[in-house]
Amino acid sequence: MDKNIAIKLTKLYELQETDTHINDILKLRGTLPEEVYVLERDIETLSTTIQSRASLLTTLREEVANKKAFIKQTEKKLQQYESQQMEVRNNREYDAITKELELHKLDIQLAEKFLHTAYRNIEQEEADLEASSKLLESKKADLVLKKEELQLILKASEKEESALHEKRKTVIAVLGEPLYLAYERIKNNVPNNLAVVPIKKGACGGCCIVIPPQQKIGVYERNKIVLCEHCGRMLIALEQPIDKLLFVS
Ligand SMILES: [Zn+2]
Repeated sequence: MDKNIAIKLTKLYELQETDTHINDILKLRGTLPEEVYVLERDIETLSTTIQSRASLLTTLREEVANKKAFIKQTEKKLQQYESQQMEVRNNREYDAITKELELHKLDIQLAEKFLHTAYRNIEQEEADLEASSKLLESKKADLVLKKEELQLILKASEKEESALHEKRKTVIAVLGEPLYLAYERIKNNVPNNLAVVPIKKGACGGCCIVIPPQQKIGVYERNKIVLCEHCGRMLIALEQPIDKLLFVS
């Protein structure tokens, strides 16, 4: 047995158990963190939509005010032209004023048409804005509740979690970076996130495939880190407690 390897195997298993524990804590939170994240994102999107709706409404209202002023001004001009028409000296002047009158009347018609569409758009935008605002309020209320709930859960496991993370750091320091990275790589590639598994009844504790005798001996000897030929997980022998073996030889 290589003492150094035996220590590393013990630490690998400790790391695995620590990570499993952390995962169990994370599972307790369920979908709550994700729900909080989605709500926060929705609120941000809705706030942006509301802002652009509000600024569109301001623009529309300004355009309406401008058009109304334009109509008033044009109507005044119409009155002026009409009184001028009464005082014309010849047909040419009369025709010229008639033409002006017609043009201004057309302007008024177009402006009124614009106003008609603008009023309809304003009405629609106001309704949409109100609906978005109501939705925003309900989402905000929902977020407050969910955040409170999440805070309670986080607080309950806060100490335990930070102790686990501390333990992790200590274990990783003993393992060294290459071994730790290998562990992480295996952990992220296997379905149950177990990178270190014990031999159980002669089979790999991860994939349950029987381990060839020669490889099994290698695991028990602890002279090197043995990977399961089938699933690639790191194998350890729990039947003989590693701690005890450390004090033999
Ligand atoms: Zn396996």
